[in-house]
Amino acid sequence: MSNSDCIFCSIATGKIPCIRIWQDDLVLAFLDIGPVSDGHTLVIPKAHFGRLHECSPDVLVGISNCIGKICQAVVSAVGAEAYNVLCNNGIAAGQLVEHVHFHIIPRNSGDGVFGRWPAYKYQQGRAEEIAARIREKI
Ligand code: AMP
Ligand code: ZN
Repeated sequence: MSNSDCIFCSIATGKIPCIRIWQDDLVLAFLDIGPVSDGHTLVIPKAHFGRLHECSPDVLVGISNCIGKICQAVVSAVGAEAYNVLCNNGIAAGQLVEHVHFHIIPRNSGDGVFGRWPAYKYQQGRAEEIAARIREKI
C-alpha cells in the first residue's frame, strides 16, 4: 500500500533517496533531513498509514520489534546521554508528513532541544471523568 503523493512512500519505494539506517520487510529507518540533533532518525512503516491508530497490528508489531535496537544504535553511535522517541499525530500535534513516523532524537544535558511541556493539575473529579470517557471509547 503506497500513496503516490506521499514523500515517505516515495522514500520507502526508493523513488526518493534517503540515508538508510536499517530496514526489513515492514519497516525502514533513515536519517531525518532536518535534524534537531546529530543522528536524528525516522522510523517508518513501508506501507502508508497516516497516523498511529490507523496502523495495522502487524505494522505495530514490526515497529516494536526493531525500534529499541535502532534507538540503542543511534544513541551509541553519536555518544548521546539520552533520547526522545516522538510520534506526532495530526497537524495540531506538529505532524507535517502524514505518513506515520517515529522520531528518535539523541539528547544531551543542557542541549536546549526541548523544554518541559506546560503541565497543570486536574480540578477535583476531572481526571476520573475523563478516564471514564476514554474507557468507553476503547
Ligand atoms: P513531523 O513534523 O513529525 O511530520 O516530521 C517530519 C520530519 O520529516 C521532519 O523532521 C523533516 O525534517 C523530515 N523529512 C521531511 N522530508 C524528508 C526527507 N526527504 N528525508 C528525510 N527526512 C525528511
Ligand atoms: Zn506514505
